[in-house]
Amino acid sequence: MPVDVAFFEQITARCQATGATLVAVSKTKPAADIMALYELGQRHFGENYVQELVEKADQLPPDICWHFIGHLQSNKVKYIAPFVHLIHGIDSIKLLNEVEKQGKKLGRRVGCLLQLHIAQESTKFGFDPSEVKGIDLTQWPHAEVRGLMGMASFSNSEPQVRQEFLQLKQSFVDLKAHYTQLDTLSMGMSGDYNLALDCGSNMLRIGSLLFGSRG
Ligand SMILES: *Cc1c(COP(=O)(O)O)cnc(C)c1O
Repeated sequence: MPVDVAFFEQITARCQATGATLVAVSKTKPAADIMALYELGQRHFGENYVQELVEKADQLPPDICWHFIGHLQSNKVKYIAPFVHLIHGIDSIKLLNEVEKQGKKLGRRVGCLLQLHIAQESTKFGFDPSEVKGIDLTQWPHAEVRGLMGMASFSNSEPQVRQEFLQLKQSFVDLKAHYTQLDTLSMGMSGDYNLALDCGSNMLRIGSLLFGSRG
């Protein structure tokens, strides 16, 4: 299935108008699909399996900014730490400690987003909003926390999803009051990006609307 160029142009214009970054979620899609968007100017791509990310990063142009958006196990941090642009799913102190360790070894600051648990589903990973308030971010000079990420409930209830996004936005504002360098609020996917932008997102992670459904 070819990439949807019309949607890409539309969403890119929308992101430019709102100052948001579009992360094209290319998981399970071939390198050729990534190159199709790359040639149209897209540079931020997201993957959620470590091995797939490493293989694609190896084959594809070096100026791509790779985002890791999946659930990351501590023992795999070392494979992506040398090149990853931003790790979205930081959901434990243990993981931050590991990113710090690998970043220090490499002499590299690795961009991170703390994942907050905002959805009703109990299966989604992340910190509790109340938990994040108490974390001292200065402990990890090489795991550079840039902001927050979250996934809303998989729900058709617009009020529900809106309330979850607004909660995430509020957590971001609260944290930014203490750490003014924070600049990234990653929320919104194919099914809910309009609502996410309405609620203050500045980073969208969109896969199926760009690349087609994943079978
Ligand atoms: C797969 C995935 C996306 C993209 O989902 P679509 O619905 O295809 O846009 C966004 N965020 C995360 C964390 C994902 O795993």
